Amino acid sequence: MNLDLTEEQELVRRTVREFAEERIAPVAAELDREARFPSDIVRALGELGLMGIPIPEEHGGAGGDTVSYALAIEELARVDSSVAITVAAHTSLGTMPILLFGNDGQKREWLPDLASGRRLAAFGLTEPGAGSDAGATRTRAELRDESWIVNGSKIFITNAGTDLTACVTITARTGEDEISNLIVPNGTPGYEISAPMEKLGWHASDTRELAFSDCAVPEANLLGPRGAGFRQFLEILDGGRISVAAMGVGLAQGAYELARSYAGEREQFGRPIAVFQAVQFRLADMATEIEAGRGLVLRAAWLKDQGRPFAQEAAMAKLYTGELSGRVVSEALQLHGGYGYMEESAIARFYRDQKVLEIGEGTNDVQRMVIARHLGL
Ligand SMILES: Cc1cc2nc3c(=O)[nH]c(=O)nc-3n(C[C@H](O)[C@H](O)[C@H](O)COP(=O)(O)OP(=O)(O)OC[C@H]3O[C@@H](n4cnc5c(N)ncnc54)[C@H](O)[C@@H]3O)c2cc1C
Repeated sequence: MNLDLTEEQELVRRTVREFAEERIAPVAAELDREARFPSDIVRALGELGLMGIPIPEEHGGAGGDTVSYALAIEELARVDSSVAITVAAHTSLGTMPILLFGNDGQKREWLPDLASGRRLAAFGLTEPGAGSDAGATRTRAELRDESWIVNGSKIFITNAGTDLTACVTITARTGEDEISNLIVPNGTPGYEISAPMEKLGWHASDTRELAFSDCAVPEANLLGPRGAGFRQFLEILDGGRISVAAMGVGLAQGAYELARSYAGEREQFGRPIAVFQAVQFRLADMATEIEAGRGLVLRAAWLKDQGRPFAQEAAMAKLYTGELSGRVVSEALQLHGGYGYMEESAIARFYRDQKVLEIGEGTNDVQRMVIARHLGL
């Protein structure tokens, strides 16, 4: 058994850490305050090959493994969750369906721009009436004169409306008991994108409502076989969970580091608060839980890289890191006292950014349902 990262994986971690500290950290608070999507940062990440880490080089990606990808997402979330979710949603949800289920023509058309980060893609699964029960999709697509005529709506869709966005892959009902995936290019008549939604956190990430009314999409934009959409989106979510779990570890790590550094500087009763054992115990618990969470994430990623079943481990990693990031960020803010409650402190942003890690890509309850199913319950 070897738990060391390879040289290549270490290099990815180092490269992303340097980029995050030099390019993202100085502007993270401002992007959050202004709720501004960081197009320039996304372009720079693309130039470094970080917008398509697990996409093969022949399609314009970096040809890296899932472990490297998880490390990169962790490092981004350690500094800025909005940037991390932009990369994670683009890679795991936007680009991956085309890589996994697209035909040669679709791969040639979309992947080079997406995997290189010149353009972004979104994944439109959730609807106002279909969240945890994503199979209850009401959006319909009807085949007429070699076009799919789409009617319906989607909600909370990440990366759908940025100036870099090329397309969204949506699930739609193509028959009574049949769900299929369709690629809808941005700018298609009948496809309307709302203004950015106002959120508790992830302020610099792009989240939109989508409306389709008699939106005609070429028949050739069907992804994979007709009727395979349900199985396809479950597979996409399994992989995506590893990246959201990595975000939980990264956010917790960032929050822990802020708390540790603050505890060393803040003096009360004539001494830095870090000398009080109650404070040390909190920091020790945080560090321990983060290590446990990181272990779950890397194991799920490693299993995926070995071509072995990983869905249960990915759900466990997502559940555990979602909840652990909540505990860690709450304790980390607590250690900042009143200063932590002020928007000028970085920990306040981390606190707001955390909650969605227990909601997106399946709530904690949904992860428990997935795990229970794998346990044969
Ligand atoms: C910022 C943000 C970005 C997102 N990005 C995307 C995206 O890019 N693409 C996309 O398709 N979706 C996206 N989502 C949607 C996200 O995946 C859903 O919000 C999530 O799956 C939950 O669905 P819901 O919000 O409808 O909640 P609901 O499903 O209505 O859940 C409400 C509550 O009921 C609980 N619940 C539901 N069913 C059960 C059950 N059977 N047993 C026990 N408890 C249950 C849930 O756990 C939850 O606590 C995003 C969401 C957010 C907030």
